[in-house]
Amino acid sequence: MDCVFCKIIKGEIPSSKVYEDEKMIIIKDINPQTPIHLLMIPKEHFKGVAEMSAKQSVILGEMFKRLGELERELGLKDGYRIIVNKGENGCQTVPHLHVHILGGKKLNEQMV
Ligand code: AMP
Ligand code: ZN
Repeated sequence: MDCVFCKIIKGEIPSSKVYEDEKMIIIKDINPQTPIHLLMIPKEHFKGVAEMSAKQSVILGEMFKRLGELERELGLKDGYRIIVNKGENGCQTVPHLHVHILGGKKLNEQMV
């Protein structure tokens, strides 16, 4: 499949990985918008929440649980913002669900 995140997960293209387990990877975004800009990506390919199976939705919940446990290790203990872009209006560019994790500074109160 011609998907940049599937290729990263398979090790076919390099990435700055900060965490990996059997369900997901967390990598540094190649074009960071904040001092810490990570992408939390499920290993199973699906485009977005509208396309995920019940099993994949459980995995997504487990990913968030794990993120909570990793906050200190990832430098996020002072807080962060999570964003999932979806579709054209959301400006999703990679059609493999991913959660942006933005932190490392006090973010704008206005989100958009
Ligand atoms: P989105 O616009 O929500 O689909 O976000 C896609 C994100 O993936 C963007 O922030 C890109 O900078 C990031 N990205 C694209 N290719 C790579 C890559 N090879 N390694 C790391 N991040 C990437
Ligand atoms: Zn993919």
